[in-house]
Amino acid sequence: MSKRAYNFCAGPAALPEAVLKQAQADLLDWQGRGLSVMEMSHRGDDFTAISSKAEQDLRDLLVIPSDYKVLFLQGGASLQFAQVALNLLPEGGKADYIDTGIWSRKAIEQAQNYGAVNVAASAKKYDYLAIPGQNEWQLSKDAAYVHYTPNETIGGLEYGWIPETGDIPLVADASSNLLSRSLDVSRFGLIYAGAQKNIGPSGLVVVIVQEDLLGRARSSCPKLLDYKVEADNGSMYNTPATFSWYLSGLVFQWLKEQGGLPAIERINRQKQELLYGYIDNSEMYVNPIAKNDRSWMNVPFRLQDERLDKVFLDGAEERGLLYLQGHRSVGGMRASIYNAVSLEAVQALVAYMTEFEKEHG
Ligand SMILES: *Cc1c(COP(=O)(O)O)cnc(C)c1O
Repeated sequence: MSKRAYNFCAGPAALPEAVLKQAQADLLDWQGRGLSVMEMSHRGDDFTAISSKAEQDLRDLLVIPSDYKVLFLQGGASLQFAQVALNLLPEGGKADYIDTGIWSRKAIEQAQNYGAVNVAASAKKYDYLAIPGQNEWQLSKDAAYVHYTPNETIGGLEYGWIPETGDIPLVADASSNLLSRSLDVSRFGLIYAGAQKNIGPSGLVVVIVQEDLLGRARSSCPKLLDYKVEADNGSMYNTPATFSWYLSGLVFQWLKEQGGLPAIERINRQKQELLYGYIDNSEMYVNPIAKNDRSWMNVPFRLQDERLDKVFLDGAEERGLLYLQGHRSVGGMRASIYNAVSLEAVQALVAYMTEFEKEHG
């Protein structure tokens, strides 16, 4: 038996061991059919069973209302930055965006190619250490939609609330926190999430879209990027990422077996309380984010003395604690503690941090 490391990678991220074992058992011979999922027609009965069960399980987990379509697309969250605008921003129209960090700014940059973007609020005034409250937002009356990033994976900021936008559709890049806790999907016009953080392997992006928003793509929108075309074709206008879809389905099943989102939320709450609690009480580590705006999923932290960073990371690796270095744009450390990262993994991290503080503090 090989030993599995504690994996704190921001993405592609840890997957539940039970899911990997199931995939391993299925690999050569899925359900006695004599072939792997990768080798099946996406239009055959076998894959249809896999893909529709995955969709139903996701619907059950998030309690997605029936007037929403669920799409399993490719191109990652980054293509959604353009695809959202191509579908929802009319020629000559305007959209509101909230800037809370690197991922929101990438979304803004892409949308600007297609129309007017009003940055209705920016965390810049707080050095990206806090999220501007909605009372500080300058929303437009005539925006086609409002886009925000519920969890900034790199900066480590997360909204503990859902913005109120009245009749204007709310669009969310929930790549790094979808499925981490319960969510009222009916508050959104559209939610998208790249799979490789909290859903499954890369190669897949999940889009949950209110039906009224379909059929609005501008004429220059490539057919493959038109949400209505994908919705009408069950996300199979062309060949979908079948293996990623299947594996994500196993993750949804695993989540249901854990007790669904209320249960995973309890564990995620414990994990982040343990880690932030330890950081805040230590003399050696710092997380500078405003307490109410701290991410449950991505916990950046610094050492008081950054000359020790390399020693810390080398020691972590020796103990099987992987990928704790911060994003290349910010440095320091970051622990991503998605659903598949167990409480035990976070306990092992805190034990190492404690030991390191004793030795070098
Ligand atoms: C990772 C990430 C992205 C980019 O995802 P890709 O699938 O690599 O395009 C976008 N937004 C957020 C919030 C992310 O965490």
